Amino acid sequence: MKKISTAILIVLIGFSAKSQTIINRNSDIAQMVKSVNQDSLKSYITKMVAFGTRNTLSDIKSKTKGIGAARNWVVTKFSQFAKQSDGRLTAFLDTTTFQPDGKRIDKPTLLGNAFAILKGTDANDKRVYVVSGHLDSRVTDVMNRTSDAPGANDDGSGVAGVIEAARIMSKYKFSATIIFVAVSGEEQSLLGSGFMAAKAKREGWNVDAMLNNDMIGSNNSSETQIIDNTRLRVFSEGLPSFELDKNAKSIRQFGLENDGKSRQLARYVKEIGERYVDQLEIKLIYRNDRFLRGGDHTPFVENGFTAVRITEMNENFEHQHQDLRTENGIRYGDLQEFMDFEYLRKNTGVNIAVLANLAKAPSTPIDVKIDVKNLSNSSYIYWKAPVNGTVKGYYVLMRETSSSVWEKKFFTTATELRIPYSKDNYLFAVQSVGNDENESLPVVPGIGR
Ligand SMILES: [Zn+2]
Repeated sequence: MKKISTAILIVLIGFSAKSQTIINRNSDIAQMVKSVNQDSLKSYITKMVAFGTRNTLSDIKSKTKGIGAARNWVVTKFSQFAKQSDGRLTAFLDTTTFQPDGKRIDKPTLLGNAFAILKGTDANDKRVYVVSGHLDSRVTDVMNRTSDAPGANDDGSGVAGVIEAARIMSKYKFSATIIFVAVSGEEQSLLGSGFMAAKAKREGWNVDAMLNNDMIGSNNSSETQIIDNTRLRVFSEGLPSFELDKNAKSIRQFGLENDGKSRQLARYVKEIGERYVDQLEIKLIYRNDRFLRGGDHTPFVENGFTAVRITEMNENFEHQHQDLRTENGIRYGDLQEFMDFEYLRKNTGVNIAVLANLAKAPSTPIDVKIDVKNLSNSSYIYWKAPVNGTVKGYYVLMRETSSSVWEKKFFTTATELRIPYSKDNYLFAVQSVGNDENESLPVVPGIGR
């Protein structure tokens, strides 16, 4: 383990008029992020586009065309990385058959999610972190399984990011387990991710966080003509879809509408992503997904897991879900030439930084409580040490109720902290901090008496 002293210390002066931000980069994670390679990303996308269509209903027998050949290629790619992992990485295709549903499946369909599991180094650490993209693609008609559907950006970009993350991270060791997955059936109503999330729930996988990457490689918008590769969106649900009825009362009572687990993960993605990736601002979007639309993180949050969607800042609808054609001088279709590989490089770096920081960190502090015995203008927060990993200490995070991001961090080596700020006016959370400065996800305190 590298010592903290080897971390790069950058003090950003004048970052904001009010304060300075200190950036501590763990040297291993900085190195991983630096290893993300535009040419690798480009080569994965060229390969995926060459399968013609990757529609979920397309051919699975051909060796060169269709979703079958595409998913086998992803597994082959993952298997290559397994060789550099000291036996920790396993690659396989997880399949299931979907019957016609009268909607977007019209024949029995053997669907396959391509997996790479990088086993954690601590056998007692049951935490699992998932990073996904969807391999399937489509044209204008979602049932069209023969026309070329390059899907370079939607979602070749997400899958390329996942493959690149697997390539780089399989050379490093993490306490927790990381699952790299290219799901299918996204365009047929989130079938592959739904199958995976249901299995994770049924088999009791300890999925601590899931990052769904869907379209992370195009920098421009149709209609509004914006070009921007310096901002990335993270979507997270507000009120949790899982057991909302059961929890709505306490959420309302404690004012936790913006403090669900997935929103904490979104803030974490912003902080850690911006810590390691230069020239990138992460925008928190307070929605589970784009307006009336869905993604592969949705079945995960619906099953009670913590999950967010990572998506480019602007979408170009001339290149999304379109038949390849030229009309009135406009070229339609999701082609590689419309992508920005510098942007995809940065967005892949965000995923790697977040996954690495989480999987290296100790697990979350447990039984985090805020004392409410007496009326008081200070706040007393206490907790127990995490189950996994060694802690150097804890951050107590604080922010105004109207602030979208944490504003202050108090470091302590104790398992309690009394601070002279009223719980009436601020929100709090506690993170475990590992010896290499890696933080766990924050935990919002429950009521302690
Ligand atoms: Zn998509």
